[in-house]
Amino acid sequence: MTPDEFMRGLECFPAYVYDLDGLREHVASIRNVLGPELFYAAKANPDPAILRAVAPHVDGIEVASGGELAHVRKTLPEARLAFGGPGKTDEELALALDLGVERIHVESPHELARLAALNRPAQILLRANLKLPTTGAALQMSGPFGMDEQALSACARAITDSPHLTLRGIHAHLASGLDAPAMLDLAKHIIDWAVPWLERHRVEDPEINLGGGMAVDYHSPAQRFDWKAYGEGLPAYGEGLPASAAKLRIEPGRALTAYHGWYVTDVLDVKTTHGETYAVLRGGTQHLRTPVTKGHNQPFTVVSNASEDVRPVTLVGQLCTPKDVFARDVPVPATLRPGDVIAFAMAGAYAWNISHHDFLMHPEPAFHYLDRGFI
Ligand SMILES: *Cc1c(COP(=O)(O)O)cnc(C)c1O
Repeated sequence: MTPDEFMRGLECFPAYVYDLDGLREHVASIRNVLGPELFYAAKANPDPAILRAVAPHVDGIEVASGGELAHVRKTLPEARLAFGGPGKTDEELALALDLGVERIHVESPHELARLAALNRPAQILLRANLKLPTTGAALQMSGPFGMDEQALSACARAITDSPHLTLRGIHAHLASGLDAPAMLDLAKHIIDWAVPWLERHRVEDPEINLGGGMAVDYHSPAQRFDWKAYGEGLPAYGEGLPASAAKLRIEPGRALTAYHGWYVTDVLDVKTTHGETYAVLRGGTQHLRTPVTKGHNQPFTVVSNASEDVRPVTLVGQLCTPKDVFARDVPVPATLRPGDVIAFAMAGAYAWNISHHDFLMHPEPAFHYLDRGFI
């Protein structure tokens, strides 16, 4: 059954629908065209069923808190893990070592000192905050994240002086929302800076984690990140490169899971006020905060009404705030009426898990997983 067929048959709203079969196929196809290792950034969507669908097709999972760490380890006992994110507590660092995290992405000299004080073996990537060109990025990951060259060198020295810590490489997640050519350009700048740096600091079998942030275009959902071009453009480890070249790893979240989730709900009311027509939908952006946080119209289809005759309507939820808007002045079938069913697409990442569920205490959505488990 296709996701469309499934959603047309739904009777209870609102509901999240996840297409696990499509997700497996999508991630496997990305894995097939990539040289670097592929980790999934769990913060995009840590739903256990999503994690279990993605896991066989990636090399590991990146977690960004003690909560994610415990959750992912419980869901995927065998997965290779990397632990990143700012402001790690002593308890979280110890938990990472207890739960067998393979790489810790250290964000600051103070964090490194606290990790060293645990007196336990740890394998480290230092997170670099590099001033590199990231034109066209939706989000610049500069500011508090990672370290400048001075702090990086201080950390490298401290690691050399520590009997338990091993420097394995550099981590650089510098931007979000770049297309493949821009992402490749950024990757080359990172590699050109990091390879000599790693050589200078005598890092054996060095690794470079290039981060995530591969673009997802909510305005034109069919416009996908060109994984083939990205995979072909990146240098492959050991292939005609100097011995100093590094093993590459990436850790996207959004571009892996965004496309295989939908928030499906029905129309409760259609009304015109001061010349503007609104469709009030069951639920609201407390279940799907993405359009509000990103400032876009969430892509959607009206699954119950295929009429080609359209008119502009603003799609809102049941919250008592003018900010509760899924999409503003968008064309919908002119005959849209209460009972019609709307499926918001691209709700598989940074959707349910970033939303403020309890606001106004409306019922939570049901969750459905399309899963034949073929792949
Ligand atoms: C959020 C995050 C990612 C994933 O970013 P996407 O935009 O979802 O691909 C990867 N690495 C780090 C360090 C992050 O903070």
